Amino acid sequence: MSQDPNCLFCKIAEGKIPSRKVYEDDDILAFHDIHPWAPVHFLLIPKQHLTSMAHVDESHAPLLGKMMALVPKLARQEGCRPYPDGGFRLVTNTGADGGQEVPHLHFHVIGGPRPWLKG
Ligand code: AMP
Ligand code: ZN
Repeated sequence: MSQDPNCLFCKIAEGKIPSRKVYEDDDILAFHDIHPWAPVHFLLIPKQHLTSMAHVDESHAPLLGKMMALVPKLARQEGCRPYPDGGFRLVTNTGADGGQEVPHLHFHVIGGPRPWLKG
């Protein structure tokens, strides 16, 4: 597993910085966002360091497929109401123009009854 010692989310993946875990397996971690926008707001990350969606290629397809397949299950588990009245927002900020603040790929899963703080 390749990790960046200076990366915040690598440190969270390694347990060096605490997080409120939603899900964990050998390759993937999900944890609550520290500044939630909505009743449900967690982040899904690969444990290996991957800077952003702009760094993704075909070799990452199995990992990303596994992450996407987890989203609906974890969203329901964390309190998003069923589709179509419920649902959730899946957001991946990429690069400066994309508003990315933490340079380790993460998918925001945001949901729950409105109003939300933003979004
Ligand atoms: P982005 O702007 O897409 O890079 O989002 C980074 C997200 O990480 C923000 O929503 C932050 O609230 C969240 N965040 C930053 N530090 C932590 C942390 N230590 N634990 C959980 N979430 C964090
Ligand atoms: Zn990292």
